[in-house]
Amino acid sequence: MMTLAIQTSTTSNTQPNQAVVAYLQQLIGFKSITPNQAGAIDWLEYQLNSLGFDCEQFTFNGVTNLIAKVSFGEGPIYAFSGHIDVVPACAEHWLVEPFSGAIVNNAVYGRGAADMKGGVAAMLCATQKLMVDVAHKQGTFYWLITSDEEGEAEYGSLLIAERLAQQGIQLDGCIVGEPTSHVQVGDTIKNGRRGALSARLSIAGKAGHVAYPDNTVNAAHLSADVVKRLTNIDWQQDEASSNTSLQVTGINIANVVDNMVPAHCEMTFNVRYSHGYKSADIKNEIQFALGDLANNLNIEWERPCESFYTAHQGSHCLLAQVEQAVLNVTGNYPLLSTSGGTSDGRFFANSHTQVIECGVRNNTIHQVNEHVPIADLIKIEQIYTKILSNLFNG
Ligand SMILES: [Zn+2]
Repeated sequence: MMTLAIQTSTTSNTQPNQAVVAYLQQLIGFKSITPNQAGAIDWLEYQLNSLGFDCEQFTFNGVTNLIAKVSFGEGPIYAFSGHIDVVPACAEHWLVEPFSGAIVNNAVYGRGAADMKGGVAAMLCATQKLMVDVAHKQGTFYWLITSDEEGEAEYGSLLIAERLAQQGIQLDGCIVGEPTSHVQVGDTIKNGRRGALSARLSIAGKAGHVAYPDNTVNAAHLSADVVKRLTNIDWQQDEASSNTSLQVTGINIANVVDNMVPAHCEMTFNVRYSHGYKSADIKNEIQFALGDLANNLNIEWERPCESFYTAHQGSHCLLAQVEQAVLNVTGNYPLLSTSGGTSDGRFFANSHTQVIECGVRNNTIHQVNEHVPIADLIKIEQIYTKILSNLFNG
């Protein structure tokens, strides 16, 4: 049986770099369930302001965003992107109060500990170290924080990216602090994500008596044909280790009576697609596959999330810098992955801006007893410190 040592403060923690633990506990204490910032962004703004950042906070439709900037003069422009919002937590099954940040067996417990207040706390410590001596630094560093990543993300990082574009700011690279690691911190980073697209399909047939099917068009039978066509699409533009998959998520035929051919069927499906595609390509493939059924179908597309991908580039390569920092701290190169759900990285990635996600382990995210070991926090802080030092030291 496991013995639990529950501590509610960091005082009995003898490990170094306690600031990262204290910051994480502070952040967990803000009940920032999407889209409420609940003081978390105010606190971050205060911290960054004290370090010399210019901060701009703006709220739209209940979502709070923060753009904080420090410039060391000419040079590349890099950003850290993160979210302080969390999914809800119901206290009854937790070892500790989910917004307490209590330490259990040398891990910080709480909603958001891994996704992704831990990353934010570690980046804050790394940023403090970066700002200790700014004499020989170059470039500009942005912090881009939102309170709506876990929700619809309509007014979060999308608006931040638009704001930067309006100001004529083009990022050279962006580090996203999402939890990407698998078994050990730094073993996996994400240099892209698959895209996602949902659809709602109305299938129209013609009702009639089941005994006289020649006079009807059976919407249930049509739906079977649609499922077959959708699931047989050959996604030829898939990239290696980034496969497209389409899953039908619902089929609904209302008012089923046993002597009547149904006239209508509603179907929903979701596509997770390789970075070899953009959402427009996916729509084209699906419409082509459904071809001659078009007269009986109406498709409404929902919740599109574009794919993105960052390859290595010749000079000033953020991907190489992150790989190098991980190697320095952990002794191993990270695995590059594009798996998992969507992330805010998609709002910043483009043909110029490299986007790399690198963070703590994701084994407990969105779960009861979400937690992050203190040793992992210290490791990710070291990785971030190394990355920042490499990026801004001339
Ligand atoms: Zn997250």
